[in-house]
Amino acid sequence: MKNLTSYLAGRWHTAERDFHVLVDPSTEEPVAQASSTGADFAGALEWARRSGGPALRELTFGQRGEILKAVAKKLREHRGELLALSRTNNGTTAGDGSFDVDGGGGALAVYGNLGLALGDRRFLLDGAGDQLVKTEAFWSQHVEVPKQGVAVHINAFNFPAWGFAEKFACAFLAGMPVVTKPATATALTAHRLVEIVIESGLLPAGALQLVVGATGDLLDRLGAQDVFAFTGSAATALALRAKRNLLAASVHVNVEADSLNAAVLAPDVAPGSPAFALFVADVAREVTQKAGQKCTAVRRILLPPALAGAATEALVARLAGTTTGNPADESVRMGPLATADQLRDALDGIAELLATTDLVHGTGRRIDGVGAPAGKGYFVGPTLLRSETPRERTPVHYREVFGPVATLLPFDGSAAQAAAIVALAEGTLVTSVYSNDDTWVRAFLAAGGSTTGRLYLGSDGSEGAGSGACFPQSQHGGPGRAGGGAELGGRRGLAPYLQRVALQGHRSLVERVAGV
Ligand code: NAP
Repeated sequence: MKNLTSYLAGRWHTAERDFHVLVDPSTEEPVAQASSTGADFAGALEWARRSGGPALRELTFGQRGEILKAVAKKLREHRGELLALSRTNNGTTAGDGSFDVDGGGGALAVYGNLGLALGDRRFLLDGAGDQLVKTEAFWSQHVEVPKQGVAVHINAFNFPAWGFAEKFACAFLAGMPVVTKPATATALTAHRLVEIVIESGLLPAGALQLVVGATGDLLDRLGAQDVFAFTGSAATALALRAKRNLLAASVHVNVEADSLNAAVLAPDVAPGSPAFALFVADVAREVTQKAGQKCTAVRRILLPPALAGAATEALVARLAGTTTGNPADESVRMGPLATADQLRDALDGIAELLATTDLVHGTGRRIDGVGAPAGKGYFVGPTLLRSETPRERTPVHYREVFGPVATLLPFDGSAAQAAAIVALAEGTLVTSVYSNDDTWVRAFLAAGGSTTGRLYLGSDGSEGAGSGACFPQSQHGGPGRAGGGAELGGRRGLAPYLQRVALQGHRSLVERVAGV
């Protein structure tokens, strides 16, 4: 069986015990094993700080951008291999695998181009300067310089490629070395991806290290110049961000966590209109893509009285046409959940939701998958529930079921009530609104904008990729329950890895130093 090793301090570390076995979630066959036992995390951090950081800071933004573009190109050459690993270990269909693998490559390429645009600089200007007294003898200009520590990235099981790439691209372009850790259960794709990048020789020594398995004392060793970015469940985030050394040294911590995202159908959208069709196609895809294992998946669907019947009927018809099973079978449109634990948690979650909802579509139980051995595989079919008490804070608003499961919620058609219902989840990564009525949308933004990190607007003629897609140019992250973090968003994504410095002095010196 393949042994997944960690790449630390310039060597591949092979553990001898405490292995976690990775499986194919469609067949439950073992595919690899992983452990980090015996790894020297102090040595890894030292290598990043002594070698990786200085080498990166020697390069300009433009040079780092060139490297990111070359890394994206190298990964494209291995696309087929990475998609196959994603299917084997994450149970992804070709489309779902592409969402992860090509999405990751896309993030690297976009940040590569941003680096080229930022050009021949080693620090950035932040806005225009300000005169502080009556003359130019005292002037202020903000600049941003790379932090001189290490960026430690911990990722969730559902996006082994994109999760690595979107975080790495930002830290690397900013000039910080990275230690990345994928979730152990689905580390196969991320391990190979990092192996390809390391073997390419494109990166300066110490710029990228990989932990497969437990992180030991790694996080306890972080200090003032380091950055910690985490994606995963709210419970793990709470435990990790509360570490004493992180709090004591004011380490920048970014958290991307759970989110009960909502899709809202406004009352102006007529059945048969393009916006109605977009709503149905988007929501059905957001429930079933990656078997609902997306932090940005739609979990709550708000329907106004006049449209509830037609929208429910159209959604059920779409979901009923989704073939669930082993992605190795060509007829399959939706794969399994990624692990036995995830299956157990999703079934527990459905049972919890069913205490206050009715089943509209699906079984609420594990099913056998097409093309998979009977009784094997972590399959849950598309599942639609309906709540008759949408304004009460039932589990629908706080129990994230990480699978192809969503709940229909009736509302009175007003933007105010829609926003109040969406807010019951206490912060989302994305909320989608389908409407052609700009007054309604503006009212929703005013009432509910602060409860989400991204507002996706579907209308007649819009060509969105669905609310679940995170574009590198647009912010990813949301308030409250969603973690309170912010990643990507073009140049904004570099912010955690840069220290803003207010340069003050005579205007001419300040501007010469800053390169204004
Ligand atoms: P998880 O159980 O919280 O694990 C996330 C990561 O944390 C894994 O790499 C895990 O490693 C690591 N981890 C767990 N305990 C740790 C500890 N004590 N010290 C260091 N690392 C530790 O979450 P998951 O099951 O992988 O992912 C599903 C969750 O992630 C869902 O709730 C989903 O909403 C959320 N998610 C959010 C986003 C977003 O961008 N907001 C994106 C994707 C997923 P091991 O695997 O080795 O335990």
